[in-house]
Amino acid sequence: MDENCIFCKIIRGDFNTDFVYENEYLVVFKDINPKAPVHLLVVPRIHVPSLNELDDKNLLGELMLGVKEAAKKVGLKSYRTQINTGKEAGQEVFHLHIHVLGK
Ligand code: 5GP
Ligand code: ZN
Repeated sequence: MDENCIFCKIIRGDFNTDFVYENEYLVVFKDINPKAPVHLLVVPRIHVPSLNELDDKNLLGELMLGVKEAAKKVGLKSYRTQINTGKEAGQEVFHLHIHVLGK
């Protein structure tokens, strides 16, 4: 838990965010500023600033399976995934997340 991290606060339940899918490793919620008709964020429960700081292969696998499960849950058969890593690549929230974009 990082006290200054918006996603840690969401995971803690500070904003009563609706999770479209969750398990022991991750939560999935809708992006507040969607860039596609369906725009989800798959977010690990632990605070990892970006992909550059992730060494846990099991968690990496769980995150990708979380993408699949969340897509299934909202009825997305076709979708794109994106991970922005670093400021220059457009990362704004420094708590690792996978964007899932679809119609
Ligand atoms: P990044 O640019 O870091 O890859 O993506 C961060 C994403 O988080 C952005 O698409 C932004 O709209 C979303 N976001 C930022 N703050 C919040 C928030 O408080 N709630 C939700 N649901 N999404 C957020
Ligand atoms: Zn965090």
